[in-house]
Parts: sequence; C-alpha cells; structure tokens
Amino acid sequence: MATCLRLRSCAAFCSWRGVSAKERSSLLRKWYDLMIQNKDDLAKIITAESGKPLKEAQGEILYSANFLEWFSEEARRVYGDIISTPAKERRALVLKQPVGVAAVITPWNFPSAMITRKVGAALAAGCTVVVKPAEDTPFSALALAELANQAGIPPGVYNVIPCSQKKAKEVGEALCTDPLVSKISFTGSTATGKVLLHHAANSVKRVSMELGGHAPFIVFDSANVDQAVAGAMASKFRNSGQTCVCSNRFLVQSGIHDSFVKKFAEAIKTNLHVGNGFDERTTQGPLINAKAVEKVEKHVSDAISKGATVVTGGKRHHVGKNFFEPTLLSNVTRDMLCSQEETFGPVAPVIKFNTEEEAVAIANAANVGLAGYFYSQDPAQIWRVAERLEVGMVGVNEGLISSVECPFGGVKQSGLGREGSKYGIDEYLELKYVCFGGL
Ligand code: ADP
Repeated sequence: MATCLRLRSCAAFCSWRGVSAKERSSLLRKWYDLMIQNKDDLAKIITAESGKPLKEAQGEILYSANFLEWFSEEARRVYGDIISTPAKERRALVLKQPVGVAAVITPWNFPSAMITRKVGAALAAGCTVVVKPAEDTPFSALALAELANQAGIPPGVYNVIPCSQKKAKEVGEALCTDPLVSKISFTGSTATGKVLLHHAANSVKRVSMELGGHAPFIVFDSANVDQAVAGAMASKFRNSGQTCVCSNRFLVQSGIHDSFVKKFAEAIKTNLHVGNGFDERTTQGPLINAKAVEKVEKHVSDAISKGATVVTGGKRHHVGKNFFEPTLLSNVTRDMLCSQEETFGPVAPVIKFNTEEEAVAIANAANVGLAGYFYSQDPAQIWRVAERLEVGMVGVNEGLISSVECPFGGVKQSGLGREGSKYGIDEYLELKYVCFGGL
C-alpha cells in the first residue's frame, strides 16, 4: 500500500507542480473553510482518539486550520531573485521550485495541527504528500483527507497511510529510502528522528525534524509572581503536559522560590480537573497510553527516592488507569531523571537556584533546545537571557508562544528546520540557479 501511495503521489506531483500558485492557494483556502465549517466534529474526533479535553481539541482545530489559511496566502508569495553578475554578457536568476513528494510522519499529541503545519506548506510550494499519522491517532488525518477531497484538491496530492505500531518502522523505512520521495518531514521523539535521518542519508533526502524538547521555565527574583504562575500553568499543563514545548523544568530563584511554589500549588489544586475529555469541566484528560503513564510514574518515583518533595499530586489518578494527578515537586536536583529528560506528562519539578549564571548553565546543559521560558522585569536581564538560552523559541513573560505566523523549531538535538511563519514554505522549496550567457 505504501508503494502504491508513493507512486500515486509521484504521479500527482507531475500535475500539481504545474497548477498555478493562485489555484493552489484557492484550494488550500477551500480546505481551510471546510475545516472551519466542520470544526466541532473535527474536535470531537481528536478528543475521541487522544482523550484531549474538548475545549483544547477545539483550540487545536482552529490552530490547525490556520496553517491552511496561512499557507494559502504564502503560496502566492514565493519569489525568486535576479542577481548582478560580474560578467557583462551574463544574467543570473534564482528560481524556487517544489522539492517533490514529501513523506510526512506525525505524532499523536496534535493529531491535526502537526499535519497541516507540514502539509499546508508542502502543498503551497507545489509538493504532494504521503502522511503517516501516529498509530494512536489516525482518524484526524483521515478526516482531513475527506475534507481535502471535498475542497477539490486533486487525488494523489494528499495521501494517508494509517498503520499499526508494528508496521510503523517498516513504513517509515520504506518512505525514507524510496527514491520517489524527495523530502522527509517528521515530528516526534529525538530517538525516532535519528532513525529516520539514518534511513534518509543513503539517498540524501531533504529533511525537516521537529524533535523532543526539555524546556526550562526560569523565574527570576524580579518576576511578577502571579504572571509567572499563570504562564507556568499554561505552559506546563496544556494537553496534560504532552507537548514538546511544555515546560519540563522549573528553575526558580531563591528570593521568589517559596512564594512561587505556594501559588503554583494553589493554582494547580484550584484550576485543574482530571477526567473524561468530553466532560465540560475537564482540563486534564488521560495520557495517551499505558507506556506514557509508566514513564511519568518512573520520573516521580525516581525524584522522590532522591529527595524531592511532593507538594501536590504524585500518583496515578483514581478516574482511570491512564490518568495521572497534576503534580508539583520541589527540592528537585539535577541528578534526577525529571531534570535530565522530557517527562511528557503533568509533572512540574522545581529546582532552586541563586544566580542568573547558574540558571542559564542549568538550562543549557540539555542536549536538546526547543522552547525556553523565563519571567523577569529587568530589561537588561531579559536581553541577556533571551540571547543566551540555547533554544529555538523563547517566551519572555509568556507561557504560550506557538502561532502560525512565527517560526517553530529547535536547535541542538531538537531538530532541523522551521515550521509555520514565512520561513516554513522554504522547507519544501529548492533553489535553482539559472545562468543566461552570451547576451
Ligand atoms: P512518541 O514517543 O511521542 O510516540 P515517536 O517518535 O515514537 O514519538 O512517534 C512519532 C511518529 O513516528 C509516529 O507516527 C510513529 O508511528 C512514528 N514512528 C515511530 N517509530 C518509527 C520508525 N522507526 N520509523 C518510522 N516512523 C516511526
């Protein structure tokens, strides 16, 4: 089936690349309109397949649709260049052309938006796509296929291969090694990203990788503590802590530490309700599967065994086996697992620090660098720290930073390339230099 879809996508590329930018733009816009018309059903699909609370799922659908709208606009704004050459009898041009068939491998935590962020850019550039959604969340990808069809996007331009976990490796390898596929765009764990990079190396494919993070959230003494707590709540507990930009380590300066921890604990106890995603009160759904809960449990028990204090939460939630209590840990140290790797769950570990130097050193000690956040009211410190953090995205006095207009991506082992924004389409375009001689 994978081979058949690659052939179909390759055949579709031959005609899709020739469709005018205006027409591609208008088809993407129709796809966007259909997403908006069907937003309630699309959100219910996300909640049903991932457990994400319905309100958050509705937010994801708007975010997801916005990528189609944004790239429908960007499709018409791809410009080449004319370059002055040293030779009088020559002229030099740069054309931008679609890369070709793109294989798109996506995760379960944003079953819709991680697809449109890639596919919107790819289709706008004139590429066709074969999407392999995560095994836990195939239905959003299929619903998008139905709407693409209704929008009039030609057959073969957007293809989906849902497959089981067992088949994911096989399909991933087939996509990454196939000569008909020119580009791999992946969002998921750093470990899987490395496997895909390895596969893609043999045929030297273009790659975009949006991999794991380990976001620091630094609260300096000068911060407004209420603002910092609000930012911490938003950046930690969205999707029950299962986003790659979720704060994963709270570094809090000694002068503000006790007040921050107290207020953060109160906010967690007051504002978070764990339960069925379809229940209106729910802000925290289940984790995606048993393996995810086991990892969270392991991080918490490791921290406790090494001296961390459970301020609130700390164990599985009684509503069901895949639910975990929103958890705040204090007295966390750098040797604990939760300080060293992504937890991907509703656990907020707090590490106390004394100096800015120390905080930046802890933040930058990770081998990944996706998002980083800090709260400070000191302008000089804001510039210093924003420039020194080794991450691709910085939130200054802000806990939610993603938007279609801004570039999303990381440094170090958090990945390669940027998605969304005016830069995202470049991931699907090749530069071609054309030299006109004999003039
Ligand atoms: P997570 O740990 O968050 O599930 P993964 O990186 O394992 O993240 O999964 C993200 C996506 O990568 C999913 O679509 C999954 O099926 C896919 N995937 C996982 N392992 C492989 C692999 N070896 N080859 C190709 N795709 C894979």
